Amino acid sequence: MSKYGVRAKVFGLFSEALSAWAVALVALVAGALLTAALAIAAQTFYKQQLRQRFELLASERYSRIAERFDDQEQRLDGLRRFFSYSTEITGREFDGYVKPLLHRTQAYSWAPRVTAAQREAFERQASGVLGQPYQIRDQDMQGVLQPATPRDHYYPVLYSQAASQPGQPYGLDMLGQALRQTTLQRAGAPGSMAVSAPLDMLNVEPAYARGLLMVAPVFAEGAGHAAPSGFVMALLSMRQLIAEGLPAAVDDNLSVRILDTSGSNGQEVLYDSQSPIAPIPMVSNHLLHLADHHYQLAIRPSQAFLQANRSSAAQGVVWLGGLLSLLLSALLYSLFSQRQRALKLVEQRTAELRVSEQSLRGTHNQLRSVLDAATQVAIIATSLKGVISTFNAGAERMLGYSASEVMGCLDLAELVQTDELSQRAHALSVRYGRDIAGGQALFAETVREAGGEPGEWTLVRKDGSQLFANMLVTAVLDEQGLWVGYLAICIDVTERRRVHEALAARDQLLEKLSAEVPGGIYQYCLYADGRSCFPYASQGLYEIYEVDLQLLREDATRVFERIHPDDLERVRRSVRYSAEHLSPWREEYRVILPRAGLRWVRGEATPEIGEDGCTLWHGYLTDVSDPKSVEEELRTLSITDVLTGIHNRRYFQERLKSELERAQRDGLELAVIMLDIDHFKRINDEFGHAVGDHVLRSLCQHIGQRLRRSDVFCRLGGEEFMVLCPGSDAEQARSLALELWQGVRGLSIAGVGRVTASFGVAGWRPGEGADSLLLRADAGVYAAKQAGRDRVEVELP
Ligand code: GH3
Ligand code: MG
Ligand code: MG
Repeated sequence: MSKYGVRAKVFGLFSEALSAWAVALVALVAGALLTAALAIAAQTFYKQQLRQRFELLASERYSRIAERFDDQEQRLDGLRRFFSYSTEITGREFDGYVKPLLHRTQAYSWAPRVTAAQREAFERQASGVLGQPYQIRDQDMQGVLQPATPRDHYYPVLYSQAASQPGQPYGLDMLGQALRQTTLQRAGAPGSMAVSAPLDMLNVEPAYARGLLMVAPVFAEGAGHAAPSGFVMALLSMRQLIAEGLPAAVDDNLSVRILDTSGSNGQEVLYDSQSPIAPIPMVSNHLLHLADHHYQLAIRPSQAFLQANRSSAAQGVVWLGGLLSLLLSALLYSLFSQRQRALKLVEQRTAELRVSEQSLRGTHNQLRSVLDAATQVAIIATSLKGVISTFNAGAERMLGYSASEVMGCLDLAELVQTDELSQRAHALSVRYGRDIAGGQALFAETVREAGGEPGEWTLVRKDGSQLFANMLVTAVLDEQGLWVGYLAICIDVTERRRVHEALAARDQLLEKLSAEVPGGIYQYCLYADGRSCFPYASQGLYEIYEVDLQLLREDATRVFERIHPDDLERVRRSVRYSAEHLSPWREEYRVILPRAGLRWVRGEATPEIGEDGCTLWHGYLTDVSDPKSVEEELRTLSITDVLTGIHNRRYFQERLKSELERAQRDGLELAVIMLDIDHFKRINDEFGHAVGDHVLRSLCQHIGQRLRRSDVFCRLGGEEFMVLCPGSDAEQARSLALELWQGVRGLSIAGVGRVTASFGVAGWRPGEGADSLLLRADAGVYAAKQAGRDRVEVELP
């Protein structure tokens, strides 16, 4: 159950989960019970109604039958009185009287008393009156009429009027048969009336045959009461009497049964309507009187009655009740389900709200903490008019005011230097073309440009001192996106500005100094992937390379394009070496510039590992083209033999050293040829020292012409020479020596003639030093001298 009690137990019985089903079930059961009660009530009411209706119908039917019985009695009584008060009644008069009475009566007859003596005369007279043979007759066992047996007296039918004409029983003696006779006897007293036991009529449709004979005696006026002068009779067909004017038996609502209870044979059915009896326990019993008889009338409801009064009320109630119960159950189930869902939703939403409330509170606390923690940043919120509403710890620290001093009291504009504010306001007024008040200068850009850039402002502390702040003013919006104020975030940039200014001054100083320094100073950065650039290069560097300095800041490739091809590899190598060993770089090399042409450059730099992992050199470059030319000259002089113009011993030693290193490093061959002019002392002695010098020059020129470019020809001193042959082994050097030997021998020097020389050849052996190699060559020369001079001797084994 929820904390807020939104979920309650239904009737305190069911848990929420069960309630919808339970309520629906309860509603269904209650509906079913109610429906059953209603159905029973409806059924009871229906039965009551049925009974009432039946009793009404039965009573009406009884009244009708009783009325008809009475009517029959009255009619017969009327006929009797007609005969009583008339002396002589003709057949026509009888007919005229009786015909209107034949309604619901089978026949009326008149049977006068005829004594045995009067029989013949009567028969004759009657034949005359009736216009047909007339005889007093009896009915035999077969129902055939026979002349009556002689008796004391007779009551033969004289007049008869029937509803159906044929077969009038004229002459039938009423005393001729026991049933009629007893009936007549019971009606012997004046004013009496008697009915026969039930009889079946002859010559009548079988359905209408069951009937009664009702007789009434007529006593002649003033004749005393000896014997009736005749009888008036009515033959009644029960069916005609009772059923006429009623619906057919199958359609009749009532089943009518009349029992003759006073007969000698016990109870006898006088009439049965034959209507099918409904299976309901209802019966209406009545007593009927006709003349001297009592009849029991039993009326029951028929099938037709049941059908006519069939009630669908109970069934309807069951259906309707069932349907309503189901609907109610469904409705309750739906309502409770909805309620449960709604409760669940409320609970869910409440939980969500709680979570978001917690998160909001968390966010609020975080925000508050951020505001308080941001001690280096001033966060100031204002209303739309600029009145301060939030002043964080950073703002307090930066501006020296406490929050309570400024909130609601000061405008943000009051914290800004007045002159600066008015200057900015003026500038903005010009820019936007409308008058902007000083106080609005802070917000004008935010308003116009929907979020301006941060600007630098001079703020004034509480103690009057100033600080430079970088301030960003943004709009504060509410949920609808409407502006409700401004938020200013300020960072104290006083120190930064001071550092910036100091740096700028330092930059200027550097610029000035570097302008005074011959050449250029620079930073050169080499990355591991081979890229390189000049993060800093003074103007002087442009003079060195004639490359746009801006380009060099990005990429140093153009510098290497300027370096002389012969020096490029050396420069690259030395840069690599410096980077690998972090050793100072020092190099002199030539550059070929678009304007200045070939120039010599000297560079010095010290490497270090840069912040991003690159190797960073700081150094300078100067143009050394002028000193270089002097130096070159000196150098040339230092390695040149003045007399002959070929390289001197120093140069030979330098080259030998470097070529030996190269051969050692690269695994190359190397050989030397040494030669000494034979008996030179004699030439000097014979022709003079000057001629000796001439011989030396001529010989050098001749040998020099025959050598390859790669061979190095040097004068070791006096009349001793050396040829250094890089890339040649001992055998190749010997061939060259032989060639040179031949050349020397073939040379004729003017004024001197032929000159010879002795040659020694030595091929370098890996691992061998310079001294050893030269010693072996010298040994060769010595061997040649010893062998008689003017020859070539190869090295010693
Ligand atoms: P050998 O066949 O054994 O080599 O006999 P040689 O006379 O050539 O050898 P020696 O070393 O005895 O003599 C070398 C001479 O060369 C001695 C020196 O006067 C001469 N000489 C050395 N330098 C010069 C020079 O620059 N000019 C002239 N003209 N002569 C020089
Ligand atoms: Mg010599
Ligand atoms: Mg010598």
